[in-house]
Amino acid sequence: MAEKGMLVVFSAPSGCGKDTVFQELLKRRTDIVKSVSATTRPIREGEQDGVDYYFKTEEEFKRLINSKGLLEHTVYNGNYYGTPVEGVNKAISDGKICFLIIEVEGGQNIMKLRPDCVPIFLLPPSIEELRRRLIKRGTETEDVIEQRLERAKLEIELSELYRYNVVNDDLNVAVDKIEEILEIELSAHNR
Ligand code: 5GP
Repeated sequence: MAEKGMLVVFSAPSGCGKDTVFQELLKRRTDIVKSVSATTRPIREGEQDGVDYYFKTEEEFKRLINSKGLLEHTVYNGNYYGTPVEGVNKAISDGKICFLIIEVEGGQNIMKLRPDCVPIFLLPPSIEELRRRLIKRGTETEDVIEQRLERAKLEIELSELYRYNVVNDDLNVAVDKIEEILEIELSAHNR
């Protein structure tokens, strides 16, 4: 268990396996929690309100912005996404490692707001491999896959802004690497 909480910004292009990597980390450590974001995007099959996201109407989301309930927010693919400040503060005061699984614009905002955060960017082995994974996942049309790949290229260019870049070629190797990073950062945090 971390003595003091720690904030981790975890970003990756779509299809890079960040949810799988995060689920594996959760299995290995009990002091990790995910910040549940608010969003206006429609709920997907299998998702639960309050677990995967807090699903909001645009009006509700704007109210959250106006009441300063969000640490950061952005528009992604035409939908709002934001990090509720309350959940983050609670996780940190509980001594947890709080993961913000967010896109790069939000990630950059958090790095400015919370310079003591730990920014980790998960990279695909290559764009070709990312295309293969998105096609295999089969949840998007060809056009959407091409849009996501274009966005992924832009996001990968911003990966250098993150303190740590981890390549997700082999799942276990990537998770091992992130665990090492957490250990290094925790000892620096609690020094
Ligand atoms: P999806 O709709 O596929 O769940 O998420 C789309 C993108 O929004 C992903 O890159 C995800 O990490 C990002 N995202 C999720 N929650 C937030 C948030 O609270 N803030 C920001 N900036 N991005 C988020």
